[in-house]
Amino acid sequence: MSISQNLATISQRIQQFTQQTQRPENSVKLLAVSKTKPISAIEQAICAGQRAFGENYVQEGVEKVQYFANQSDLEWHFIGALQSNKTRLVAEHFDWVQTIDRLKIAQRLSEQRPVGKPALNVLLQINISDEASKAGIAPTDMLALATEISQLPNLKLRGLMAIPKPESEPEQQRIALVQMQMLFEQLKCHFKDIDTLSMGMSDDMQVAIECGSTMVRIGTAIFGARNY
Ligand SMILES: *Cc1c(COP(=O)(O)O)cnc(C)c1O
Repeated sequence: MSISQNLATISQRIQQFTQQTQRPENSVKLLAVSKTKPISAIEQAICAGQRAFGENYVQEGVEKVQYFANQSDLEWHFIGALQSNKTRLVAEHFDWVQTIDRLKIAQRLSEQRPVGKPALNVLLQINISDEASKAGIAPTDMLALATEISQLPNLKLRGLMAIPKPESEPEQQRIALVQMQMLFEQLKCHFKDIDTLSMGMSDDMQVAIECGSTMVRIGTAIFGARNY
């Protein structure tokens, strides 16, 4: 299957699940996760109409952002682990950072955001399955971190992101996704401009959309398996 066919198939599934859940059309956005994939693959996705891309590695991501710099309608999301010594490149080149789980990183991103660029959109990453190995904050820390981040001048807090632990049963998966939905509603009550709940990948996309996801992140099903 070609990249454009894969994109069409996934978009159709997103539309179908959105309709089945009686949510508004186009309320779920597709983030194409292009990490490790070559420029040529991204070009094919762009030709097929895809505009939002997710990257996990700073150097690789920045090279891609720069390569496509003259295409101003693209949206670049940083979705990987971010160390404080790499924040400047991310602040300078990306439009979104989905993996905020420390105030220090957020402060650096805000300080390093270039003058003249719009505020950097950020999501708080929640460790919803409470895995010791996973990044993200505990749900109980959400409002405190959100309060501090909302005061940073060059960041715009837009919502939450999670990578729930994969469960073999969809109903088991639903538990974490429903918790995310409740946290998202709580965040919305306290802050303005909250409109993005990034959750759902290939295997849990349907349940994620039922639970209010506004952005699903898909890599392999668009671009094929990754070779590391
Ligand atoms: C790699 C990655 C994805 C996409 O994973 P696939 O299994 O290739 O669809 C989604 N979200 C995050 C945070 C990722 O790192």
